[in-house]
Amino acid sequence: MGQSVWKPMIWIFALIIAFNFMYAFFARQSVDSGAPVSYSRFKDELAADNITKISIKGNSISGEFRKKVTVTDSSSGKPVTREAARFTTIKPAIEDASLMADLQARKVDVTAVTTETSPLVSGLLYLLPWILIIGVWWLVMRGMRGQNPGAMMGGFSKSGAQMYTPGEKSKVTFDDVAGMENAKLELKEIVDYLQDPKKFQQIGGKVPKGVLLVGPPGTGKTLLARAVAGEAGVTFLSISASQFIEMFVGVGAGRVRDLFATAKKSAPSIIFIDELDAVGRSRGAGLGGGHDEREQTLNQLLSEMDGFDPHDEVIVMAATNRPDVLDAALLRPGRFDRHVVVDRPDWRDREKILQVHTRKIPLDKDVVLAVIARGTPGMTGADLENLVNEAAILAARQNSSTVTMYHLEQAKDKVLMGGERKMYITEQEKRITAYHEAGHTLVAKLLPGTDPVHKVTIIPRGQALGVTQQLPEDDRYHYSKTYLVNRLSVALGGRVAERTVFGDLSTGAQNDLKMVNELAEKMVCVWGMSDKIGAMTFHRGEEHPFLGRKLAEEKTFSEQMAWLIDQEISAVIRQAEVKAEEIIAGNRDKLDVLAEALIDEETLDGKRIDQLLGLDNGQ
Ligand code: ADP
Ligand code: ZN
Repeated sequence: MGQSVWKPMIWIFALIIAFNFMYAFFARQSVDSGAPVSYSRFKDELAADNITKISIKGNSISGEFRKKVTVTDSSSGKPVTREAARFTTIKPAIEDASLMADLQARKVDVTAVTTETSPLVSGLLYLLPWILIIGVWWLVMRGMRGQNPGAMMGGFSKSGAQMYTPGEKSKVTFDDVAGMENAKLELKEIVDYLQDPKKFQQIGGKVPKGVLLVGPPGTGKTLLARAVAGEAGVTFLSISASQFIEMFVGVGAGRVRDLFATAKKSAPSIIFIDELDAVGRSRGAGLGGGHDEREQTLNQLLSEMDGFDPHDEVIVMAATNRPDVLDAALLRPGRFDRHVVVDRPDWRDREKILQVHTRKIPLDKDVVLAVIARGTPGMTGADLENLVNEAAILAARQNSSTVTMYHLEQAKDKVLMGGERKMYITEQEKRITAYHEAGHTLVAKLLPGTDPVHKVTIIPRGQALGVTQQLPEDDRYHYSKTYLVNRLSVALGGRVAERTVFGDLSTGAQNDLKMVNELAEKMVCVWGMSDKIGAMTFHRGEEHPFLGRKLAEEKTFSEQMAWLIDQEISAVIRQAEVKAEEIIAGNRDKLDVLAEALIDEETLDGKRIDQLLGLDNGQ
């Protein structure tokens, strides 16, 4: 796409250069192709009637001798004597009044050549700086757009070949999409329509033109849309809505127009717009700049969707994880009126996803994918794909011919807790971390109704110095208040253990505290779990999805209520902390055993923890 701008520019440059050369060439020919002689020599030869014709350009004169003469040419450094038939000379600034008369007397043929450059060349020379300025301006503007460097010099309003792939026939089918049976069922209708639109049009049935896929990132929304195109055997055009938004007002709208035109040309087709919320946020809610542009782009999108005639076999699919912020106009009938929820997979679907992604990987006989699937609650399809990939890399690095359960477990830890970090830790820091993690583990083990501890480690991973990993037995959708308070106790266990053992606190508990505060606030304000406040919900500033921080919102409750909420939140936290303190104080010996084992072994799995706590055959 860069060529569209550069081609004419390069041509203009080439033309200018060519003209200059040509001009210089002809100009030289007419004046310059002879031996340089002095003016007096010229006058002498004229007097000797040895000159047949001359041409005058400005104050330079060139011409032909009647007979060749010997001249000394020193223009190229050392003097050379040669025979010359032609000459050039420069007329002195002093007026030579007799020259014309002499020339006429000797019947010399005189031509005058203009000193003016040709109007075309001078016009081009005049334009040159402007062309340069505009060229530089282009580059700067393109650079400011901060797009991928490949797209640096594109047409402004084309959606561009890199952004979507016109004419791509998707090879993905529903078989490549594991699980999601509900979503597939709902989309089957679209597939049927695209396969045989005539049938639907004859009956006059209304087929949805816009389908909104709603779900968190990585759950396979793009994959699903691609699979619909693949099943129906139609063209798939995809673009991310954030690519519509540019610095210049109107560019996004142009891109939308262009995209829809391409889709109609290659109909039947599917347009897939990822991150629809980037343009589709409620109008009038824009923060700061860029909001006019977004609004125009959105309007264009709406009018394109309205402009579909029933015979356009184009389906628009869009993905978002924030359906709540979308403009209501987008969701009206005739637009994105069909919603398909793509949720995080449960463990059965996770197993199927693992199966899909291990199809081409040699798995060891010991591998039971269901175990990995159960141990990865909350992971999306993308996470699981990543997990399988990590396991394969690990197996390859260890020169193993198959991927074993060990590799998959290692990969799971890496994906769940981040990669191991090499860093220098002092003995004292190691002790503090060991007691901190032992605190979490002990509280988790001894409080009933908490998630089982899967693993605890003091090997630094990701941001954390140590990790206590709990895994629920199955996916949970409802949480009881008891469960949540216990969770707070577990999270506070690390801090309590540090305080009990060292009589001091460290900064290591920062993440724990953040999590505790957020959870406690939700319990009181969102889930109505406080006795004093009861079944009321409050907005205490919602995290803004695009700014990643809270915005001040108008408070809809009194100062008194605000005070009460604060009291209740701190009461919940206090309650959880007291529980953790009781457990730690009452089981100091067990805490020591766990911490010492951690310092020694660095990582303890669930079985080893049970062994250390003497819970082998209990529980
Ligand atoms: P989204 O568009 O929801 O952010 P993607 O469709 O880009 O997610 O998914 C990312 C990757 O995760 C896909 O390319 C696919 O390999 C994998 N994936 C996600 N869900 C599934 C699934 N249900 N079955 C198989 N693979 C999946
Ligand atoms: Zn902690």
